[in-house]
Order: sequence, then structure tokens, then C-alpha cells
Amino acid sequence: MTVTATQVPVLSDNYSWLLRDSASGATAIVDPPVAEPIIAAIEQAGGRLDMILLTHHHDDHIGGVDALRARFPVPVIGAAADAHRLPRLDRAVAEGDIVRLGTAEGRVIATPGHTLGHIAYFFADGPLLCCGDTMFSLGCGRLFEGTAQQMFDSFAKFAALPDATLICCGHEYTASNARFALAVDPDNAALKARAAEVERLRAEGRPTVPVRLDLERATNPFLRAPTAAAFGELRAHKDRF
Ligand code: ZN
Ligand code: FE
Repeated sequence: MTVTATQVPVLSDNYSWLLRDSASGATAIVDPPVAEPIIAAIEQAGGRLDMILLTHHHDDHIGGVDALRARFPVPVIGAAADAHRLPRLDRAVAEGDIVRLGTAEGRVIATPGHTLGHIAYFFADGPLLCCGDTMFSLGCGRLFEGTAQQMFDSFAKFAALPDATLICCGHEYTASNARFALAVDPDNAALKARAAEVERLRAEGRPTVPVRLDLERATNPFLRAPTAAAFGELRAHKDRF
């Protein structure tokens, strides 16, 4: 275990993620929508920042980049495919590229669906996955730009990661996702247990993520959809739910 992830709650329900390589102390922030609370979190963690990682171009994931880089002049890394609509990138990456955080390596996974240029970062030394608005605990991002087939294929890439992978997603949507998941999969015992846990955590004001991939495999209806068509129907149903 060399890379750890700490959520920084921002705006109403966003999470930025502070990643730290324990061997070197190298630190990254993923998806900063605002600067002040993130600068405070970085100061509290020792005041070190080595890079800013972006998953996609939506304002609630990039709005704090310029103010953050004014305070910490570090490289900003994001998708080459979206370089035209992201803050100025110091490095543009694509599927299979490696991002080095101290001694740890993060692999870039292209995950079109929510947006066409969306990417995720997988650190085997966590293991952890920063997946932005592609997958949420018990749910998935809206298909703003991509197709159900594209999102299904993106989920298939996540499904192939190790069981112990910690899912570090972009929003705290788990409680409302749980209501939908229970509606479409009412007899799933693992899901019922997770929904009860989520209710307890939220009542205590605590985050429900990160969550392990094996638990998502057992409970997330989108990760359990057998085909792209089934996935698309589920997503359309959720849009109307
Ligand atoms: Zn988004
Ligand atoms: Fe978002």
C-alpha cells in the first residue's frame, strides 16, 4: 500500500481526492472545482503538492485549477482529447499513459460516456481508481456526450481491476443511487446491507466512498448489467426515476 487517497468534500456534493505516495511524500489533487478548501487540505497534509490530475472538463471538476496553480506552480495533467476545453495542460495524456506520483505509477484509462474525453487514473499501488463522473458508488454518470455502449465499455475496464481497488469517485451520490438500485434489484442481500450502511454513514455526516470494487460488483446495478443494451435501459430508467 503506497498510495493513499483522502476525499476533500467541496461544493454541495463533489469530492476532490488528495493522493499521497507514502514512500516519497509526493502528493496530487484530483479534480479541484474550487481552490480555498483544497489549499487548506493540502496545508493540513503538510503543504506539499506535486501535480493536479483532471478527469474531465466539467466546471465542478476544474474550476479551481487556475487559482490552485497560482499558489502551487505544479504540472496540470488531463486528457489530450479534451485539451481544447480543459485549463492549460502541462501534459496531455491518453489510454495507457503512465503518470508518476513519486514512486507510484498511475495508469490512464479512457472512459468515454459521461463526456467523450473522460479519463480515469488507476494506481496499482493502492490499489485505487479515480474515476471522476464515470462510475459512482451504486451508480454511473449521466450520458451527456457518449453512448450507452461507450459507458458499458468503460465500466468493463473497471470490472477488470483488482477486487480490492478503492473507487474514488467525483460525487457523494450514494444515498440516492441506493434508492434506485434497490428499486431495480430488491432481493440483493449485499445491496440491502450496503444501503443500510450508507444510510448510517450519511446520518453521521460521513462519506460513503471510497468503496471497494468487489462490493460495487456485488451491488452496483450498472456494473452488473450484462449487455450494453441492458446498461442503456437501466441508465434511461434512472434518468426518469
Ligand atoms: Zn461531470
Ligand atoms: Fe461532476
